[in-house]
Amino acid sequence: MKRIRLSSANVGKIELNAISNFFQPDTYLGMGQDVVFFENELAKYLGIKNSQVIVVNSGTAALHLACASACPIDSEIIVPSLTYVASVQAISAARCKPIFCDVHIESATLDLKHAKTLITPNTSAIMPMHYAGNPHALKEIHNFAAEHNLRVIEDAAHAFGSTFDGCKVGSFGDIVCFSFDGIKNITCAEGGAIIAFDSQIAEHCRQMRALGIIKHGSDFDVKVQGFRYHMSNIFAAIGRAQLARFDTDFAKYRKELLAYYYHKLKKLEDCGKIFFIKTDVRAQIIPHIFAVRILNGQRDNLQKALTTFNIETAIHYKPNHLLSFYKSNIYLPNTEQLYSELLSLPLHTQIEQDDINIICAHIYNFFGILQ
Ligand SMILES: *Cc1c(COP(=O)(O)O)cnc(C)c1O
Repeated sequence: MKRIRLSSANVGKIELNAISNFFQPDTYLGMGQDVVFFENELAKYLGIKNSQVIVVNSGTAALHLACASACPIDSEIIVPSLTYVASVQAISAARCKPIFCDVHIESATLDLKHAKTLITPNTSAIMPMHYAGNPHALKEIHNFAAEHNLRVIEDAAHAFGSTFDGCKVGSFGDIVCFSFDGIKNITCAEGGAIIAFDSQIAEHCRQMRALGIIKHGSDFDVKVQGFRYHMSNIFAAIGRAQLARFDTDFAKYRKELLAYYYHKLKKLEDCGKIFFIKTDVRAQIIPHIFAVRILNGQRDNLQKALTTFNIETAIHYKPNHLLSFYKSNIYLPNTEQLYSELLSLPLHTQIEQDDINIICAHIYNFFGILQ
């Protein structure tokens, strides 16, 4: 039986070719020209200035530096509990306090009404996470932040290529963080980027990513706490090759797969067996994952059934307020309900329509409904 993977990188001859230059005697594998080219190409893709893009060696590092540069130590950052633990680890690594916010049940994204109740004089930022590629209510989030004098750090790890009101995520805002890890919309193998529209934040992040080192000729100085988060040329070269393929290849294909899933599963939604996650009408999404809500307490059984047919699925995510390290005595009803209902089905650019046909056939079978 064929294994259908949940997610996968799509790298091949093009990327291999792009890195082959590095396997020579005079190679430089550190942060050099390819990193600068990659930053400039990302800036061009987003329609922003080169100086506003800082690439680093992971999405988590991007979020960490964003928090460290924008938020005072001991300040509070409002974050949805329903996110990958990387968002929250980045907050605590910056010695800030994650304040867990509930999500909308329909979109699985941060609920501003709840966020409002969490504001204290110590709140420094809000960190929306664009679940499944959906930059939900991004305008309202920015208005809310302006009203309460907060920074906005977007965890846009799922949303590379998505747009809001016709503008690409990362082309506007305050601070936007992307991930280019192995399964994201584009990959460097490992990598990430900070997009910072405040030049002081950008400069601070640029210094912090390479141990704070400033070199002017033979002068060497360090003025800030830094980290070893810079990107290697070899990873940048992979990222450049991926970016060049993104619009015409990956983005287009991911959108097509999502549309096909919707089409195939519509009857199950009409029958009240599943719910699709709703996306903002102002957004055009390039999906990173395809998560659906499985109703009537059937999620775990469905997941088990799919596993027996060699179909990988996942639950995005276990809420962070339920993890030992971040445990707190709060109750987030929508987050906890979604945790029991969400199931992510395979979505990546190596999947074919036929794979989706197989997956959907098993799901219809499970519910005993004719397709
Ligand atoms: C992938 C991801 C990250 C972290 O990115 P890495 O590059 O894996 O460090 C952060 N937040 C979310 C929501 C992610 O999916």
